[in-house]
Amino acid sequence: MVDGKNVISFCSNDYLGLANHPQVKQAMIDGVNTYGVGSGSAHLVNGHSRSHHQLEEELAEFTGYPRALLFSTGYMANLGLCQALVKKGDYVFEDRLNHASLIDGGLVSGARIQRYLHNDVASAEQKIKNSNHTGTVKLLLSDAVFSMDGDIANVPALAKLCKKTNSWLMVDDAHGFGTLGETGKGCLQHFNLKNTEVPIYMATLGKALGTAGAFIAGSDELIETIIQQARTYIYTTAMPAAIAEATRCSLRIIQNESRHLSNLNDNIAYFKRCCAQSDLPIEHSETAIQPIIIGNDYSALQISQDLFERGFLVTAIRPPTVPEGTSRLRITLSAKHTSEHIDQLVDTLNQLIDQM
Ligand SMILES: *Cc1c(COP(=O)(O)O)cnc(C)c1O
Repeated sequence: MVDGKNVISFCSNDYLGLANHPQVKQAMIDGVNTYGVGSGSAHLVNGHSRSHHQLEEELAEFTGYPRALLFSTGYMANLGLCQALVKKGDYVFEDRLNHASLIDGGLVSGARIQRYLHNDVASAEQKIKNSNHTGTVKLLLSDAVFSMDGDIANVPALAKLCKKTNSWLMVDDAHGFGTLGETGKGCLQHFNLKNTEVPIYMATLGKALGTAGAFIAGSDELIETIIQQARTYIYTTAMPAAIAEATRCSLRIIQNESRHLSNLNDNIAYFKRCCAQSDLPIEHSETAIQPIIIGNDYSALQISQDLFERGFLVTAIRPPTVPEGTSRLRITLSAKHTSEHIDQLVDTLNQLIDQM
C-alpha cells in the first residue's frame, strides 16, 4: 500500500517471497527473545553470537566453501574485500556494468581500476595483458547476475582467464544466490563450476533470502585475511543475531521447500512468453530481472507513474544507475506473483507503450 493505494510490486528483490514467510518471521521474533534486538558491538568485540557463527557454518556448507564470513550489508562486504586484498599499485579489473558497490570497492582500495566491456572476456583479457603487473596483485570483480540488466556473466570463461593470468576472481552473486541453479545454490551450480574455480564468492542476504546482510565465502586464508584487514568488517556493529536466526531459517526453507524456486522459474518463463506474444521489447534475460529499456528518462518516469495509477509498482531506473540513454523499467518477478498479476502487468504495459 502506497499513499493509501494498493499496488502490486514488480520491483522488489525479495525473489522467493521469504521476507514474509511465516517461519522466517517467527525465527526473527524468537531470535529477538533470545538475543535482544541489537548485537551490542562489533563481531571482534562481543557482537558475534552463537547464531552468527552457526549461520556462517551453514552458509559455508551450503555453498561448498571452507569458510564464510558475515557482513552487515553487501555494500560493506564489497568495500571490505577490495580494501583487504589490494592496495595502491595493484590492479582491479571490473565489468563496465558492475554494481556500484564493486566500483566503489575498487576506488577505496587505491588500486588501479580497469573497466572492461560488458560481459566481454576478450576485453578483460586485453586489459589484463596491457597492465604492467610484475609483482602486483590482480583482482577481477564481476556481478554474476547484472543487477540492472538481468544477464548472467560468463563465469566459466572468467575463471579460465583468471587462472591463465594468475589473477583472483571474485563474483558477486547478490541476484543469483537462492535463484540460480537447480536448488538455488547460485551461479556456480548454474554453470556446474567447482569452488576452486571461483576462489572468492560473495552474496547478499537481503534479496532471495528475504532478510538482510551479506557474506563472503572462500578459503581459510582468505577469510582470515579479511577478518584482519577489512575495515568494514572490523569497525561496525554486527548484524542483529535475530537477523542471523531469520536467515538460518530462510536457508533451511530454500533447502526444504523447492516450490518457491519453481514458482519463481515458472513466473519468469510465463512473463517471457507473454511478452514474446505481444511484442513487448524485453531483453534476453533468463533471470528474475527483466528490464524494458525505454531510453529517455522522462518517458521511463511517465510510464512508471502511469503503471502506478493502474495498480503496479515498477520504479524507473535512470542515470547514473544505468548508462545515459538507457533509462528503463526494471521489472522483477517473484515466486509470489500469480499468472493473473503477470497477465495484467503485460496488458497494461502494452497499452502504455503503444500510447507512447
Ligand atoms: C544489492 C547489491 C549489493 C549490495 O547489497 P546490500 O546488502 O543491499 O548492501 C551488492 N552487489 C550487488 C550486485 C547487488 O545487487
